[in-house]
Amino acid sequence: MPSENSLADAKQQMLDQHLRARGITEERVLDAMRRVPREEFVPAALRERAYDDRALPVEFEQTISQPYTVAFMAQAAGLQTHERVLEIGTGTGYGAAVLSHLASKVCTIERWPDLRKSATERLERLGFRNVVTKFGDGSHGWMEQSPFDVIVVTAAAERLPAAFLDQLTEGGRIIIPIGKPGVGQTMIRFTRRIGKLREENLGMFSFVPLVCDS
Ligand code: SAH
Repeated sequence: MPSENSLADAKQQMLDQHLRARGITEERVLDAMRRVPREEFVPAALRERAYDDRALPVEFEQTISQPYTVAFMAQAAGLQTHERVLEIGTGTGYGAAVLSHLASKVCTIERWPDLRKSATERLERLGFRNVVTKFGDGSHGWMEQSPFDVIVVTAAAERLPAAFLDQLTEGGRIIIPIGKPGVGQTMIRFTRRIGKLREENLGMFSFVPLVCDS
C-alpha cells in the first residue's frame, strides 16, 4: 500500500505538471482537484496509480476519467458557487465530487445500476452532501431537477441530445464530447443565448460511448 506521503506527492505533481502546466489555471478548479481524494474512487489495486494523469478501468468496462479531462471540463463549464449542474455518466462519482466543490448542487445520472449504487455510497461516506444520483439514460436529462446552469456529459455522444436545451438556463453551458466512439471526439461547449445555442470547439478527447435507450 502506498504511504500517504507518496500519494500527497503524487497529487502535488498532478496539480503542477498535469493540470497547471497544461492550462488549468482557474484556482477554484485546482482547489477542487486538490480537495477530492481520487484514491478513494479508483479500484483498490490501482490506489497507488490514483494521481497518474490517465483514465483507469473500473467495473462494467467503464473508466474513471483522466484528471486533466475532469479539470478541463470543470474549467470550461465556468461554474459559479450558486449554480446547479447536471452530470451525465456518474461512473465512480469522481467527476461529481469535483463539481460539488464548484456548484451549489450536482445532479448526476448513471445507466449502470450497480455503478450508481457504489458511487452513491462512496459519495455519502466521503461526505459529499450536495450531490444527488439517479439511475437511467441521461440523454433525457432530469426534468424534475431542471433547470440547470451547466450540463456536463462524460461519455461520447454522436449528437447533442435534444432534451438538454429546455433544461438549461439562459446563459447556461453544455460541455459534451461529440463524435463516433473509438476515434476520439471533439469537446464542444454550447452556450444558451436568447433561447439558441452558440457552439465552440474546445479540442479533441477520448471517451467511452454514451449509450442511449432509443
Ligand atoms: N464521470 C465519471 C466517468 C464516467 S465514464 C467518473 O468521474 O468516474 C462514463 C460513464 O457514463 C460510464 O459510467 C457509463 O456507464 C455512463 N453512461 C454511458 N451512457 C450513459 C447514459 N445514456 N446515461 C447515463 N450514463 C451513461
